Amino acid sequence: MEYDVVTVGAGPAGLSAAIRVKQLALKKGQEISVCVIDKGAEVGAHILSGNVFEPRALNELFPNWETMENPPPMDTKAGDDEFLVLTSNRKSISIPHLLHPTQLDNDGNYIISLSVMCKWLAEQAEELGVEIYPGFAADEVLYDDKSGAVLGVATKDVGIAKSGENKDSFERGVELRGKQTLFAEGCRGSCSEDIMTKFDLRSGKDVQTYGLGVKEVWTVPEGQFKEGFIQHTLGWPLQDGPMSKTFGGSFLYHQKPNLVLLGMVVGLDYENPYISPYKEFQRWKHHPEISKHIEGGECISYGARTLNEGGWHAIPKLTFPGGSLVGCSAGFLNAVKIKGSHTAMKSGMLAAEAIFPEISKAAAAAEEAGESFQYQNIEIPEYETNLRKSWIADELKEVRNTHAAFHNGVLAGMTHTAMSCFITGGIEPWTLKNSVADSAKTGLAKDFEEIDYPRPDGVLSFDLLTNLQRSGTYHDDDQPAHLRIKPECAHVPLGQSMQKYAGPESRFCPAQVYEYTDADEHGNRKLVINAQNCLHCKACSIKTPSEYIKWTVPEGGGGPAYSVM
Ligand SMILES: Cc1cc2nc3c(=O)[nH]c(=O)nc-3n(C[C@H](O)[C@H](O)[C@H](O)COP(=O)(O)OP(=O)(O)OC[C@H]3O[C@@H](n4cnc5c(N)ncnc54)[C@H](O)[C@@H]3O)c2cc1C
Ligand code: SF4
Repeated sequence: MEYDVVTVGAGPAGLSAAIRVKQLALKKGQEISVCVIDKGAEVGAHILSGNVFEPRALNELFPNWETMENPPPMDTKAGDDEFLVLTSNRKSISIPHLLHPTQLDNDGNYIISLSVMCKWLAEQAEELGVEIYPGFAADEVLYDDKSGAVLGVATKDVGIAKSGENKDSFERGVELRGKQTLFAEGCRGSCSEDIMTKFDLRSGKDVQTYGLGVKEVWTVPEGQFKEGFIQHTLGWPLQDGPMSKTFGGSFLYHQKPNLVLLGMVVGLDYENPYISPYKEFQRWKHHPEISKHIEGGECISYGARTLNEGGWHAIPKLTFPGGSLVGCSAGFLNAVKIKGSHTAMKSGMLAAEAIFPEISKAAAAAEEAGESFQYQNIEIPEYETNLRKSWIADELKEVRNTHAAFHNGVLAGMTHTAMSCFITGGIEPWTLKNSVADSAKTGLAKDFEEIDYPRPDGVLSFDLLTNLQRSGTYHDDDQPAHLRIKPECAHVPLGQSMQKYAGPESRFCPAQVYEYTDADEHGNRKLVINAQNCLHCKACSIKTPSEYIKWTVPEGGGGPAYSVM
Protein backbone atom coordinates (compact mmCIF):
# COMPACT_ATOMS: atom_id res chain seq x y z
CA MET A 1 0.00 0.00 0.00
CA GLU A 2 1.32 3.42 -0.92
CA TYR A 3 0.89 6.72 0.90
CA ASP A 4 2.51 10.09 0.69
CA VAL A 5 3.35 9.95 4.39
CA VAL A 6 3.58 6.85 6.58
CA THR A 7 3.83 7.38 10.34
CA VAL A 8 4.93 4.59 12.66
CA GLY A 9 3.38 5.14 16.09
CA ALA A 10 0.17 6.84 17.18
CA GLY A 11 1.60 8.67 20.16
CA PRO A 12 1.61 12.47 20.53
CA ALA A 13 4.49 12.82 18.03
CA GLY A 14 3.09 10.64 15.25
CA LEU A 15 -0.46 11.95 15.53
CA SER A 16 0.62 15.60 15.63
CA ALA A 17 2.75 15.04 12.53
CA ALA A 18 -0.13 13.40 10.68
CA ILE A 19 -2.56 16.15 11.71
CA ARG A 20 -0.16 18.92 10.64
CA VAL A 21 0.43 17.38 7.19
CA LYS A 22 -3.31 17.17 6.62
CA GLN A 23 -3.93 20.70 7.93
CA LEU A 24 -1.34 22.05 5.46
CA ALA A 25 -2.79 19.99 2.61
CA LEU A 26 -6.29 21.24 3.41
CA LYS A 27 -5.07 24.83 3.38
CA LYS A 28 -3.55 24.28 -0.06
CA GLY A 29 -6.51 22.29 -1.34
CA GLN A 30 -4.31 19.29 -2.08
CA GLU A 31 -4.94 15.59 -1.58
CA ILE A 32 -2.03 14.18 0.41
CA SER A 33 -2.47 10.68 1.82
CA VAL A 34 -1.32 9.96 5.37
CA CYS A 35 -1.40 6.67 7.24
CA VAL A 36 -0.56 6.00 10.91
CA ILE A 37 -0.03 2.53 12.37
CA ASP A 38 0.31 1.51 16.00
CA LYS A 39 1.20 -1.79 17.65
CA GLY A 40 -1.38 -1.30 20.42
CA ALA A 41 -4.78 -2.95 19.96
CA GLU A 42 -6.27 0.56 20.22
CA VAL A 43 -4.75 4.01 20.00
CA GLY A 44 -3.45 4.81 23.49
CA ALA A 45 -3.21 1.16 24.61
CA HIS A 46 0.60 1.36 24.79
CA ILE A 47 0.88 4.95 25.97
CA LEU A 48 2.06 5.48 29.55
CA SER A 49 2.99 8.87 30.90
CA GLY A 50 2.74 11.01 34.11
CA ASN A 51 1.12 13.27 32.95
CA VAL A 52 1.33 16.98 33.63
CA PHE A 53 0.71 18.37 30.19
CA GLU A 54 2.13 21.61 28.93
CA PRO A 55 -0.27 22.83 26.22
CA ARG A 56 2.29 24.86 24.26
CA ALA A 57 2.37 22.59 21.21
CA LEU A 58 -1.38 21.92 21.39
CA ASN A 59 -1.97 25.71 21.29
CA GLU A 60 -0.07 25.76 18.00
CA LEU A 61 -1.74 22.66 16.55
CA PHE A 62 -5.31 23.64 17.49
CA PRO A 63 -5.27 27.34 18.48
CA ASN A 64 -9.04 27.08 19.04
CA TRP A 65 -8.98 23.96 21.24
CA GLU A 66 -10.69 25.68 24.16
CA THR A 67 -13.79 26.41 22.10
CA MET A 68 -13.90 23.20 20.05
CA GLU A 69 -17.16 21.24 19.99
CA ASN A 70 -15.26 18.12 21.02
CA PRO A 71 -12.52 19.65 23.19
CA PRO A 72 -9.40 17.75 24.30
CA PRO A 73 -9.66 15.73 27.52
CA MET A 74 -8.12 18.40 29.74
CA ASP A 75 -10.49 19.04 32.62
CA THR A 76 -7.96 19.28 35.48
CA LYS A 77 -5.91 22.45 35.72
CA ALA A 78 -2.57 22.12 37.51
CA GLY A 79 -3.05 23.40 41.07
CA ASP A 80 -0.98 23.46 44.26
CA ASP A 81 2.38 21.80 44.02
CA GLU A 82 4.98 20.62 46.48
CA PHE A 83 8.52 19.38 46.17
CA LEU A 84 9.73 17.14 48.99
CA VAL A 85 13.04 15.58 49.86
CA LEU A 86 12.21 12.37 51.72
CA THR A 87 14.98 12.07 54.30
CA SER A 88 13.89 8.67 55.67
CA ASN A 89 10.95 6.28 55.48
CA ARG A 90 9.00 8.62 57.83
CA LYS A 91 10.47 12.10 57.44
CA SER A 92 10.69 14.75 54.75
CA ILE A 93 11.74 18.32 54.08
CA SER A 94 9.59 20.55 51.91
CA ILE A 95 11.54 22.75 49.48
CA PRO A 96 10.03 26.27 49.49
CA HIS A 97 8.51 27.45 46.21
CA LEU A 98 11.09 30.19 45.86
CA LEU A 99 13.75 27.53 45.45
CA HIS A 100 11.89 25.38 42.90
CA PRO A 101 13.63 25.35 39.54
CA THR A 102 11.64 27.50 37.10
CA GLN A 103 11.31 24.45 34.86
CA LEU A 104 9.07 22.92 37.54
CA ASP A 105 6.56 25.76 37.32
CA ASN A 106 3.25 24.21 36.26
CA ASP A 107 1.08 27.31 35.96
CA GLY A 108 -1.16 26.94 32.91
CA ASN A 109 -0.56 23.17 32.66
CA TYR A 110 -3.10 20.34 32.94
CA ILE A 111 -3.18 16.92 34.53
CA ILE A 112 -4.25 14.43 31.91
CA SER A 113 -4.08 10.84 30.79
CA LEU A 114 -1.82 10.87 27.74
CA SER A 115 -3.39 7.64 26.59
CA VAL A 116 -6.83 9.33 26.51
CA MET A 117 -5.32 12.43 24.91
CA CYS A 118 -3.93 10.27 22.08
CA LYS A 119 -7.39 8.83 21.45
CA TRP A 120 -8.65 12.41 21.09
CA LEU A 121 -5.78 13.35 18.76
CA ALA A 122 -6.58 10.26 16.68
CA GLU A 123 -10.21 11.41 16.35
CA GLN A 124 -9.03 14.80 15.11
CA ALA A 125 -6.63 13.14 12.66
CA GLU A 126 -9.35 10.87 11.28
CA GLU A 127 -11.66 13.84 10.81
CA LEU A 128 -8.95 15.37 8.64
CA GLY A 129 -8.72 12.18 6.58
CA VAL A 130 -5.73 10.42 8.17
CA GLU A 131 -6.01 6.63 7.97
CA ILE A 132 -5.19 5.11 11.38
CA TYR A 133 -4.57 1.40 11.87
CA PRO A 134 -4.09 0.25 15.44
CA GLY A 135 -3.06 -3.39 15.92
CA PHE A 136 -0.38 -3.17 13.22
CA ALA A 137 3.23 -3.39 14.37
CA ALA A 138 6.04 -2.20 12.09
CA ASP A 139 8.48 -5.07 12.11
CA GLU A 140 10.93 -4.19 9.39
CA VAL A 141 12.18 -1.06 7.67
CA LEU A 142 12.07 -1.26 3.87
CA TYR A 143 15.16 0.11 2.14
CA ASP A 144 15.63 0.83 -1.56
CA ASP A 145 18.12 -1.69 -2.96
CA LYS A 146 19.90 0.91 -5.07
CA SER A 147 19.87 4.17 -3.12
CA GLY A 148 19.50 2.72 0.38
CA ALA A 149 16.71 5.22 1.10
CA VAL A 150 13.88 4.26 3.43
CA LEU A 151 10.80 3.29 1.41
CA GLY A 152 8.47 2.51 4.30
CA VAL A 153 7.87 -0.38 6.68
CA ALA A 154 6.54 -3.91 6.64
CA THR A 155 4.12 -4.89 9.38
CA LYS A 156 4.54 -8.11 11.33
CA ASP A 157 3.18 -11.37 9.93
CA VAL A 158 0.51 -12.73 12.24
CA GLY A 159 -0.55 -16.33 12.89
CA ILE A 160 2.90 -17.93 13.11
CA ALA A 161 3.26 -20.57 15.84
CA LYS A 162 6.17 -20.78 18.27
CA SER A 163 7.39 -23.72 16.21
CA GLY A 164 7.68 -21.42 13.18
CA GLU A 165 4.77 -23.06 11.34
CA ASN A 166 1.86 -21.08 9.97
CA LYS A 167 -1.38 -21.37 11.91
CA ASP A 168 -4.89 -21.17 10.39
CA SER A 169 -4.92 -17.52 11.38
CA PHE A 170 -1.76 -16.77 9.34
CA GLU A 171 -1.72 -13.45 7.52
CA ARG A 172 1.27 -11.98 5.78
CA GLY A 173 2.30 -8.50 7.00
CA VAL A 174 1.68 -5.61 4.64
CA GLU A 175 4.22 -3.30 3.04
CA LEU A 176 3.38 0.32 3.71
CA ARG A 177 5.36 2.54 1.41
CA GLY A 178 5.62 6.26 1.95
CA LYS A 179 7.33 9.07 0.10
CA GLN A 180 8.36 10.07 3.59
CA THR A 181 8.23 7.75 6.60
CA LEU A 182 8.14 9.31 10.05
CA PHE A 183 9.28 7.12 12.93
CA ALA A 184 7.33 8.07 16.05
CA GLU A 185 7.76 4.89 18.09
CA GLY A 186 8.62 6.61 21.35
CA CYS A 187 11.56 5.78 23.59
CA ARG A 188 13.86 3.05 22.20
CA GLY A 189 11.69 2.32 19.16
CA SER A 190 12.74 -0.93 17.50
CA CYS A 191 12.67 0.36 13.88
CA SER A 192 14.15 3.70 14.97
CA GLU A 193 17.12 1.93 16.57
CA ASP A 194 17.73 0.00 13.33
CA ILE A 195 17.65 3.24 11.37
CA MET A 196 20.04 5.00 13.74
CA THR A 197 22.49 2.14 13.22
CA LYS A 198 21.98 1.92 9.46
CA PHE A 199 22.55 5.65 8.87
CA ASP A 200 24.97 6.12 11.80
CA LEU A 201 22.72 8.85 13.18
CA ARG A 202 24.32 8.78 16.65
CA SER A 203 27.79 9.55 15.37
CA GLY A 204 29.37 12.38 17.39
CA LYS A 205 26.47 12.51 19.87
CA ASP A 206 26.40 11.59 23.54
CA VAL A 207 25.41 8.05 24.37
CA GLN A 208 21.68 8.12 25.22
CA THR A 209 20.76 7.46 28.84
CA TYR A 210 17.34 6.32 30.03
CA GLY A 211 15.00 6.10 32.99
CA LEU A 212 12.39 3.50 33.76
CA GLY A 213 9.04 4.82 34.98
CA VAL A 214 6.64 2.57 36.92
CA LYS A 215 3.19 3.95 37.50
CA GLU A 216 -0.16 3.18 39.11
CA VAL A 217 -3.52 4.92 38.91
CA TRP A 218 -5.75 4.89 41.99
CA THR A 219 -9.28 5.98 42.65
CA VAL A 220 -9.47 7.67 46.05
CA PRO A 221 -12.31 8.52 48.44
CA GLU A 222 -14.00 11.89 48.23
CA GLY A 223 -12.49 14.26 50.78
CA GLN A 224 -8.99 12.88 50.10
CA PHE A 225 -9.01 14.14 46.53
CA LYS A 226 -7.27 17.51 45.93
CA GLU A 227 -8.04 18.57 42.37
CA GLY A 228 -4.90 19.53 40.43
CA PHE A 229 -2.44 18.75 43.25
CA ILE A 230 1.12 18.01 42.09
CA GLN A 231 3.87 16.47 44.18
CA HIS A 232 7.43 15.47 43.28
CA THR A 233 9.95 13.85 45.60
CA LEU A 234 13.63 13.00 45.69
CA GLY A 235 15.53 11.08 48.37
CA TRP A 236 14.27 7.98 50.17
CA PRO A 237 14.14 5.18 49.15
CA LEU A 238 16.23 5.58 45.99
CA GLN A 239 18.87 7.89 47.40
CA ASP A 240 20.20 7.07 50.85
CA GLY A 241 22.15 10.30 51.20
CA PRO A 242 23.44 13.39 49.40
CA MET A 243 26.25 11.44 47.72
CA SER A 244 23.99 8.75 46.24
CA LYS A 245 24.48 8.47 42.50
CA THR A 246 21.15 6.82 41.73
CA PHE A 247 19.18 9.23 39.57
CA GLY A 248 15.44 9.32 39.94
CA GLY A 249 12.44 10.53 41.86
CA SER A 250 8.71 10.25 42.11
CA PHE A 251 5.56 11.98 40.91
CA LEU A 252 2.02 12.12 42.28
CA TYR A 253 -0.84 13.99 40.63
CA HIS A 254 -4.56 14.36 41.43
CA GLN A 255 -6.75 14.21 38.33
CA LYS A 256 -10.52 14.67 38.14
CA PRO A 257 -12.87 13.07 38.99
CA ASN A 258 -11.11 11.16 41.81
CA LEU A 259 -7.85 9.79 40.45
CA VAL A 260 -4.36 9.81 41.93
CA LEU A 261 -1.66 9.09 39.35
CA LEU A 262 1.60 8.14 40.99
CA GLY A 263 4.89 6.69 39.93
CA MET A 264 8.62 6.56 40.21
CA VAL A 265 11.29 7.10 37.60
CA VAL A 266 14.65 5.37 38.17
CA GLY A 267 17.64 6.33 36.03
CA LEU A 268 18.80 3.16 34.26
CA ASP A 269 22.38 4.26 34.74
CA TYR A 270 22.15 2.97 38.33
CA GLU A 271 25.09 0.93 39.59
CA ASN A 272 23.68 -1.39 42.25
CA PRO A 273 22.54 -4.52 40.38
CA TYR A 274 20.24 -5.43 43.26
CA ILE A 275 17.94 -2.46 42.68
CA SER A 276 14.39 -3.35 41.73
CA PRO A 277 12.64 -0.21 40.41
CA TYR A 278 9.30 -1.94 40.98
CA LYS A 279 10.02 -2.73 44.63
CA GLU A 280 11.48 0.74 45.26
CA PHE A 281 8.19 2.14 44.04
CA GLN A 282 6.16 -0.22 46.20
CA ARG A 283 8.01 0.66 49.39
CA TRP A 284 7.95 4.39 48.59
CA LYS A 285 4.13 4.31 48.75
CA HIS A 286 4.37 3.53 52.47
CA HIS A 287 5.97 6.90 53.29
CA PRO A 288 3.35 8.92 55.23
CA GLU A 289 3.63 11.80 52.72
CA ILE A 290 2.56 9.39 49.98
CA SER A 291 0.28 6.90 51.71
CA LYS A 292 -2.03 9.68 52.93
CA HIS A 293 -3.01 10.32 49.29
CA ILE A 294 -4.07 6.74 48.48
CA GLU A 295 -5.23 5.22 51.77
CA GLY A 296 -8.75 3.87 51.46
CA GLY A 297 -8.47 4.01 47.68
CA GLU A 298 -8.17 1.33 45.02
CA CYS A 299 -5.40 0.73 42.50
CA ILE A 300 -7.03 0.39 39.09
CA SER A 301 -4.10 0.37 36.70
CA TYR A 302 -0.40 -0.49 36.62
CA GLY A 303 2.25 -0.15 33.92
CA ALA A 304 5.80 0.82 33.07
CA ARG A 305 7.69 2.56 30.28
CA THR A 306 11.18 3.88 29.70
CA LEU A 307 11.98 7.49 28.89
CA ASN A 308 15.02 9.19 27.35
CA GLU A 309 17.02 11.27 29.80
CA GLY A 310 20.12 12.16 27.76
CA GLY A 311 18.66 15.50 26.67
CA TRP A 312 20.11 17.89 24.15
CA HIS A 313 23.55 16.30 23.71
CA ALA A 314 22.11 12.84 23.04
CA ILE A 315 19.74 13.80 20.22
CA PRO A 316 20.76 11.92 17.08
CA LYS A 317 20.79 13.31 13.55
CA LEU A 318 17.09 13.47 12.77
CA THR A 319 16.79 12.93 9.05
CA PHE A 320 17.85 10.32 6.50
CA PRO A 321 16.87 9.60 2.91
CA GLY A 322 13.15 8.87 2.94
CA GLY A 323 12.23 9.96 6.44
CA SER A 324 12.81 11.41 9.90
CA LEU A 325 12.76 10.54 13.59
CA VAL A 326 10.21 12.43 15.68
CA GLY A 327 9.31 12.55 19.38
CA CYS A 328 10.91 10.21 21.88
CA SER A 329 12.16 7.98 19.05
CA ALA A 330 14.80 10.70 18.86
CA GLY A 331 14.60 11.82 22.52
CA PHE A 332 13.25 15.32 23.25
CA LEU A 333 12.22 14.67 26.86
CA ASN A 334 13.09 17.43 29.31
CA ALA A 335 14.40 15.41 32.29
CA VAL A 336 14.05 18.28 34.79
CA LYS A 337 10.39 18.80 33.94
CA ILE A 338 9.87 15.05 33.27
CA LYS A 339 7.88 16.26 30.29
CA GLY A 340 8.18 15.17 26.71
CA SER A 341 4.63 15.17 25.35
CA HIS A 342 4.77 18.82 24.29
CA THR A 343 8.21 18.46 22.66
CA ALA A 344 7.11 15.20 20.99
CA MET A 345 4.10 16.99 19.49
CA LYS A 346 6.14 19.97 18.39
CA SER A 347 8.81 17.80 16.74
CA GLY A 348 6.10 15.96 14.81
CA MET A 349 4.66 19.28 13.67
CA LEU A 350 8.08 20.59 12.63
CA ALA A 351 8.76 17.41 10.63
CA ALA A 352 5.39 17.75 8.92
CA GLU A 353 6.01 21.41 8.09
CA ALA A 354 9.40 20.54 6.58
CA ILE A 355 8.28 17.60 4.45
CA PHE A 356 4.99 19.07 3.26
CA PRO A 357 6.40 21.64 0.75
CA GLU A 358 8.55 18.96 -0.91
CA ILE A 359 5.72 16.46 -1.25
CA SER A 360 3.26 19.13 -2.26
CA LYS A 361 5.61 20.54 -4.96
CA ALA A 362 6.17 17.11 -6.48
CA ALA A 363 2.46 16.30 -6.40
CA ALA A 364 1.57 19.61 -8.12
CA ALA A 365 4.24 19.13 -10.81
CA ALA A 366 2.98 15.62 -11.56
CA GLU A 367 -0.59 16.86 -11.79
CA GLU A 368 0.41 19.63 -14.21
CA ALA A 369 2.32 17.19 -16.40
CA GLY A 370 -0.62 14.78 -16.30
CA GLU A 371 1.62 12.07 -14.89
CA SER A 372 1.25 9.82 -11.93
CA PHE A 373 2.90 11.15 -8.80
CA GLN A 374 6.45 9.71 -8.77
CA TYR A 375 8.85 10.72 -6.07
CA GLN A 376 12.38 9.99 -4.95
CA ASN A 377 12.59 9.28 -1.25
CA ILE A 378 14.87 12.17 -0.44
CA GLU A 379 16.30 13.52 2.79
CA ILE A 380 14.72 16.75 4.05
CA PRO A 381 17.24 18.42 6.39
CA GLU A 382 15.03 21.49 6.97
CA TYR A 383 13.27 19.57 9.75
CA GLU A 384 16.44 19.37 11.82
CA THR A 385 17.48 22.95 10.97
CA ASN A 386 14.10 24.25 12.08
CA LEU A 387 14.02 22.09 15.19
CA ARG A 388 17.41 23.37 16.28
CA LYS A 389 15.99 26.93 16.03
CA SER A 390 12.71 26.09 17.80
CA TRP A 391 11.58 26.38 21.40
CA ILE A 392 12.41 22.69 21.84
CA ALA A 393 16.08 23.64 21.51
CA ASP A 394 15.70 26.61 23.87
CA GLU A 395 14.25 24.53 26.68
CA LEU A 396 16.47 21.49 26.28
CA LYS A 397 19.65 23.56 26.10
CA GLU A 398 18.72 25.19 29.42
CA VAL A 399 18.92 21.82 31.21
CA ARG A 400 21.53 20.22 28.97
CA ASN A 401 23.92 19.29 31.81
CA THR A 402 21.36 18.25 34.41
CA HIS A 403 21.32 14.50 34.20
CA ALA A 404 25.09 14.20 33.90
CA ALA A 405 25.52 16.44 37.00
CA PHE A 406 23.76 13.75 39.06
CA HIS A 407 26.60 11.34 38.20
CA ASN A 408 28.47 13.10 41.01
CA GLY A 409 25.70 12.50 43.54
CA VAL A 410 22.26 13.87 44.26
CA LEU A 411 23.52 16.97 46.10
CA ALA A 412 25.84 17.91 43.24
CA GLY A 413 23.01 17.27 40.78
CA MET A 414 20.53 19.45 42.67
CA THR A 415 23.08 22.24 43.08
CA HIS A 416 23.94 22.19 39.38
CA THR A 417 20.26 22.11 38.39
CA ALA A 418 19.50 25.11 40.63
CA MET A 419 22.48 26.99 39.23
CA SER A 420 21.59 26.34 35.60
CA CYS A 421 17.90 27.13 36.14
CA PHE A 422 18.44 30.33 38.19
CA ILE A 423 21.74 31.71 36.91
CA THR A 424 23.31 30.34 33.75
CA GLY A 425 20.18 29.16 31.87
CA GLY A 426 22.26 26.38 30.30
CA ILE A 427 24.98 28.64 28.92
CA GLU A 428 27.55 27.56 31.50
CA PRO A 429 30.88 27.24 29.68
CA TRP A 430 31.21 23.51 30.27
CA THR A 431 29.51 20.44 28.93
CA LEU A 432 29.10 17.32 31.02
CA LYS A 433 29.36 14.42 28.59
CA ASN A 434 28.02 10.90 28.80
CA SER A 435 29.98 8.31 26.89
CA VAL A 436 28.98 5.12 28.70
CA ALA A 437 25.81 3.15 27.99
CA ASP A 438 23.48 2.40 30.92
CA SER A 439 24.12 -1.33 30.47
CA ALA A 440 27.82 -0.78 31.14
CA LYS A 441 27.19 1.26 34.29
CA THR A 442 25.88 -1.68 36.31
CA GLY A 443 28.35 -2.54 39.06
CA LEU A 444 29.56 -6.01 40.03
CA ALA A 445 27.31 -7.85 42.47
CA LYS A 446 30.24 -8.56 44.78
CA ASP A 447 30.62 -4.83 45.45
CA PHE A 448 27.03 -4.38 46.65
CA GLU A 449 24.75 -5.85 49.24
CA GLU A 450 21.47 -7.45 48.38
CA ILE A 451 18.50 -5.16 49.18
CA ASP A 452 16.01 -6.60 51.63
CA TYR A 453 12.74 -5.22 50.29
CA PRO A 454 9.69 -5.38 52.57
CA ARG A 455 6.89 -7.75 51.63
CA PRO A 456 3.94 -6.02 49.96
CA ASP A 457 0.94 -5.66 52.28
CA GLY A 458 -1.65 -6.11 49.52
CA VAL A 459 -3.28 -2.82 50.54
CA LEU A 460 -0.82 -0.07 49.59
CA SER A 461 1.77 -2.30 47.93
CA PHE A 462 1.37 -5.34 45.73
CA ASP A 463 3.39 -8.24 44.44
CA LEU A 464 4.31 -7.81 40.83
CA LEU A 465 2.23 -10.52 39.23
CA THR A 466 -0.94 -9.28 40.96
CA ASN A 467 -0.25 -5.78 39.75
CA LEU A 468 0.56 -6.94 36.23
CA GLN A 469 -3.04 -8.04 35.81
CA ARG A 470 -3.99 -4.38 36.18
CA SER A 471 -2.07 -3.58 32.99
CA GLY A 472 -4.35 -5.75 30.86
CA THR A 473 -1.28 -7.28 29.20
CA TYR A 474 -1.98 -10.07 26.75
CA HIS A 475 0.09 -11.79 24.08
CA ASP A 476 -0.85 -14.90 22.17
CA ASP A 477 1.48 -17.40 23.81
CA ASP A 478 1.90 -19.43 20.62
CA GLN A 479 4.07 -17.05 18.62
CA PRO A 480 7.82 -16.73 18.12
CA ALA A 481 9.46 -14.93 21.06
CA HIS A 482 9.71 -11.20 20.50
CA LEU A 483 12.50 -10.88 23.08
CA ARG A 484 15.52 -12.37 21.39
CA ILE A 485 18.97 -13.02 22.76
CA LYS A 486 21.35 -11.56 20.18
CA PRO A 487 23.28 -14.49 18.66
CA GLU A 488 26.62 -12.88 19.48
CA CYS A 489 25.50 -12.53 23.13
CA ALA A 490 24.34 -16.13 23.65
CA HIS A 491 26.88 -16.55 26.46
CA VAL A 492 25.92 -13.32 28.27
CA PRO A 493 22.88 -14.31 30.38
CA LEU A 494 24.53 -17.15 32.29
CA GLY A 495 28.20 -16.31 31.68
CA GLN A 496 28.04 -12.62 32.60
CA SER A 497 24.67 -11.40 33.76
CA MET A 498 24.14 -14.12 36.34
CA GLN A 499 27.74 -14.66 37.36
CA LYS A 500 28.96 -11.08 37.59
CA TYR A 501 25.80 -9.04 38.18
CA ALA A 502 23.49 -11.57 39.91
CA GLY A 503 20.97 -11.36 37.03
CA PRO A 504 19.75 -7.74 37.26
CA GLU A 505 17.11 -8.29 34.55
CA SER A 506 15.18 -10.48 37.00
CA ARG A 507 14.85 -7.34 39.17
CA PHE A 508 14.58 -4.38 36.78
CA CYS A 509 12.01 -5.91 34.44
CA PRO A 510 8.70 -4.50 35.72
CA ALA A 511 6.79 -7.54 34.43
CA GLN A 512 8.90 -10.40 35.82
CA VAL A 513 9.67 -11.63 32.33
CA TYR A 514 13.21 -12.79 33.14
CA GLU A 515 13.70 -15.56 35.69
CA TYR A 516 16.75 -17.69 36.41
CA THR A 517 15.89 -21.21 37.57
CA ASP A 518 17.51 -22.65 40.67
CA ALA A 519 20.56 -24.79 40.02
CA ASP A 520 19.79 -28.40 39.06
CA GLU A 521 21.72 -31.40 40.41
CA HIS A 522 24.65 -30.50 38.12
CA GLY A 523 24.66 -26.91 39.32
CA ASN A 524 23.24 -25.63 36.01
CA ARG A 525 20.77 -22.78 35.86
CA LYS A 526 18.59 -21.60 33.01
CA LEU A 527 17.19 -18.26 31.96
CA VAL A 528 13.43 -18.43 31.39
CA ILE A 529 11.88 -15.58 29.36
CA ASN A 530 8.13 -15.20 30.02
CA ALA A 531 7.63 -13.01 26.96
CA GLN A 532 3.84 -13.05 27.26
CA ASN A 533 4.09 -10.80 30.36
CA CYS A 534 6.00 -8.06 28.54
CA LEU A 535 4.80 -4.48 29.10
CA HIS A 536 6.77 -3.12 26.11
CA CYS A 537 8.73 -0.79 28.40
CA LYS A 538 12.00 -1.60 26.52
CA ALA A 539 14.19 -1.57 29.66
CA CYS A 540 15.71 -4.96 28.82
CA SER A 541 17.04 -3.72 25.49
CA ILE A 542 18.80 -0.95 27.43
CA LYS A 543 20.00 -2.41 30.74
CA THR A 544 20.82 -6.09 30.16
CA PRO A 545 24.61 -6.60 30.26
CA SER A 546 26.05 -5.95 26.77
CA GLU A 547 22.43 -5.12 25.77
CA TYR A 548 22.02 -8.81 25.04
CA ILE A 549 18.28 -8.52 24.29
CA LYS A 550 17.05 -7.47 20.88
CA TRP A 551 13.54 -6.16 21.40
CA THR A 552 11.37 -6.89 18.36
CA VAL A 553 7.66 -6.33 17.97
CA PRO A 554 5.26 -9.17 18.81
CA GLU A 555 2.09 -9.67 16.75
CA GLY A 556 0.24 -6.37 16.45
CA GLY A 557 -2.32 -5.79 19.18
CA GLY A 558 -0.34 -7.74 21.82
CA GLY A 559 0.97 -5.99 24.92
CA PRO A 560 -0.62 -3.85 27.60
CA ALA A 561 -4.13 -2.47 27.34
CA TYR A 562 -3.78 0.88 29.10
CA SER A 563 -6.88 3.01 29.20
CA VAL A 564 -6.19 5.68 31.82
CA MET A 565 -2.36 5.86 31.74
C1 LIG B 1 6.69 7.52 33.75
C2 LIG B 1 6.60 8.64 32.75
C3 LIG B 1 6.13 9.88 33.15
C4 LIG B 1 6.04 10.92 32.22
N1 LIG B 1 5.50 12.10 32.61
C5 LIG B 1 5.30 13.08 31.70
C6 LIG B 1 4.60 14.27 32.05
O1 LIG B 1 4.15 14.43 33.20
N2 LIG B 1 4.45 15.22 31.10
C7 LIG B 1 4.92 15.04 29.84
O2 LIG B 1 4.74 15.94 29.01
N3 LIG B 1 5.59 13.94 29.47
C8 LIG B 1 5.78 12.94 30.37
N4 LIG B 1 6.43 11.79 30.00
C9 LIG B 1 7.02 11.70 28.66
C10 LIG B 1 6.00 11.43 27.57
O3 LIG B 1 5.18 10.35 27.92
C11 LIG B 1 6.75 11.14 26.27
O4 LIG B 1 7.68 12.15 26.05
C12 LIG B 1 5.79 11.03 25.10
O5 LIG B 1 4.86 10.00 25.34
C13 LIG B 1 6.54 10.77 23.81
O6 LIG B 1 5.64 10.72 22.76
P1 LIG B 1 5.96 9.88 21.44
O7 LIG B 1 4.82 10.06 20.55
O8 LIG B 1 7.30 10.23 20.96
O9 LIG B 1 6.06 8.35 21.92
P2 LIG B 1 5.04 7.43 22.70
O10 LIG B 1 4.11 8.23 23.51
O11 LIG B 1 5.86 6.41 23.38
O12 LIG B 1 4.19 6.74 21.55
C14 LIG B 1 4.76 5.83 20.66
C15 LIG B 1 3.67 5.01 20.01
O13 LIG B 1 4.28 4.24 18.98
C16 LIG B 1 3.81 2.91 19.03
N5 LIG B 1 4.85 2.06 18.45
C17 LIG B 1 6.11 1.90 18.91
N6 LIG B 1 6.80 1.08 18.10
C18 LIG B 1 5.95 0.71 17.11
C19 LIG B 1 6.09 -0.12 15.99
N7 LIG B 1 7.24 -0.71 15.67
N8 LIG B 1 5.01 -0.30 15.19
C20 LIG B 1 3.83 0.31 15.47
N9 LIG B 1 3.66 1.12 16.53
C21 LIG B 1 4.71 1.33 17.33
C22 LIG B 1 3.53 2.67 20.49
O14 LIG B 1 2.59 1.63 20.63
C23 LIG B 1 3.01 4.02 20.97
O15 LIG B 1 1.62 4.10 20.85
C24 LIG B 1 6.51 10.72 30.89
C25 LIG B 1 6.98 9.48 30.49
C26 LIG B 1 7.01 8.44 31.39
C27 LIG B 1 7.49 7.09 30.94
S1 SF4 C 1 10.64 -7.83 28.96
FE1 SF4 C 1 11.77 -5.96 28.60
S2 SF4 C 1 10.33 -4.62 27.56
FE2 SF4 C 1 9.14 -6.28 28.42
S3 SF4 C 1 8.48 -5.47 30.39
FE3 SF4 C 1 10.38 -6.57 30.78
S4 SF4 C 1 12.01 -5.07 30.63
FE4 SF4 C 1 10.14 -4.18 29.74
